[in-house]
Amino acid sequence: MTTATAAPPKPSIKMPRVKAQEPMFIAGKWVDSVSGKTFPTLNPSTGETICQVAEGDKADVDLAVKAARKAFDSGPWSKMTAAERGRLINKLADLIEQNAQELAALESLDNGKPYKDALTIDVPLTVKCYRYYAGWTDKIHGKTIPVEGPFFCYTRHEPVGVVGQIIPWNFPLLMQAWKWGPALATGCTIVLKPAEQTPLTALRVAALAQEAGIPDGVINVVPGYGPTAGAAITAHMGVDKVAFTGEYTTGQIIMETAAKSNLKRVTLELGGKSPNVVFADADLDAAVEGAYFGLFFNQGQCCCAGSRLFVEDRVHDEFVDKMLKKARSRKVGDPFAADTEQGPQVSQEQFDRVMGFIDVGKKEGAKLLCGGNRVGSKGYFIEATVFDNVTDEMKIAKDEIFGPVMNILRFKDMDEVVQRGNQTYYGLAAAVWTKDITKAHRLANSLRAGTVWINCYDVFDAAAPFGGFKMSGIGRELGEYALTNYTEVKTVYVNLG
Ligand code: ADP
Repeated sequence: MTTATAAPPKPSIKMPRVKAQEPMFIAGKWVDSVSGKTFPTLNPSTGETICQVAEGDKADVDLAVKAARKAFDSGPWSKMTAAERGRLINKLADLIEQNAQELAALESLDNGKPYKDALTIDVPLTVKCYRYYAGWTDKIHGKTIPVEGPFFCYTRHEPVGVVGQIIPWNFPLLMQAWKWGPALATGCTIVLKPAEQTPLTALRVAALAQEAGIPDGVINVVPGYGPTAGAAITAHMGVDKVAFTGEYTTGQIIMETAAKSNLKRVTLELGGKSPNVVFADADLDAAVEGAYFGLFFNQGQCCCAGSRLFVEDRVHDEFVDKMLKKARSRKVGDPFAADTEQGPQVSQEQFDRVMGFIDVGKKEGAKLLCGGNRVGSKGYFIEATVFDNVTDEMKIAKDEIFGPVMNILRFKDMDEVVQRGNQTYYGLAAAVWTKDITKAHRLANSLRAGTVWINCYDVFDAAAPFGGFKMSGIGRELGEYALTNYTEVKTVYVNLG
């Protein structure tokens, strides 16, 4: 059964160094905010303050943009060879790897995710991402184009400039890597705002970047709140591009602000309500395993969570029995305990939001098969929750819950599930479980989503793009595709006449 504990981290885990007040990182210096203000970052296992963090606002963003502009326009970064940039990014990856345990512990402390997940998933994917982009630095180049007339024509792929990057709290280290990797590879400079709930690992990685030798001003980290520090980045005339991951409603504000300032380039990675389709001919045990992981992983706080689980009528009961066995025994509790599968939600706000959806699900008439309750009396722990008999028009089937709440919907055939699967404003991810390759590919082609997993879920690789159709976003992160979002194409004509 589920238990919640918030015991102190085990002594075997190397615990992070946290100052009582963490400064921000601007122009290679560790500084307090101009206003002198700080904000608390909380431990979601207890609700207690871990430490205070310098609270950035417009004045701090101004300083950070100035530093980033200088590093981009005239600093050593723009004069450095591409290969040397690659060497520094690789060095950063090495340092992250060397400090893996400490970073994983800090991530776990600030975000609540199980330490073992942070150590075996978040950190290695982060390292891989930096290494992947380190390899790209000297392979980013244009074309020669056979134009008419006595001209030699070529294109250059130049860095877009100063990039503002605003990241969420669900994968702080990884989202930073997804943003910094392509920005550094292309030669951009950076002003990053981590989420106010989880600023600590971003600051620690900035210190490692400095240790790696990345020049002052190339990377700036301004912690703070969205409507203040985040909005100042988005509105700043000295920022050439903003890259954002978070809620679609925030994405809309960001796009509007970007448009009304200097038409800065915008890439957005937003939410999802991803269909996960289980056909009767699937390997049912694998489908149960994949659907369980695809929903409950990271406390259900994944934008690509398989949050509409379509199960074919004929295997529905068998599937549900198997799923319930797993969900009922999911171990919720202390993120530092070795056997914990699920830690707390990240904040009181997220806890309330998820519990609110559970209430709505009950009221809408969905059948609550397990979970639905808070775990323990402190921290933000919620039981693994499964709703059955969910129908398309229910709010729990339409809105992003971002918590450990599984919704099971029944379907009868392929055409029906394609139509219902696409009946959403979102289009981030989808999955299909079947042994029939024709069905699998037909579904992969028909579902309007940026990533489709066939007989797997949540497979990520730095080399493969990720992003959304429809209201799940604009642009792609990861892989070669991300580079296009961090470069401008310049066409050069040379008169040979
Ligand atoms: P969530 O509700 O899951 O926290 P948000 O979209 O609000 O998702 O947050 C994602 C990131 O966007 C965070 O870093 C947050 O501070 C930032 N943010 C929130 N509001 C704004 C805004 N108006 N302008 C810029 N950034 C914002």
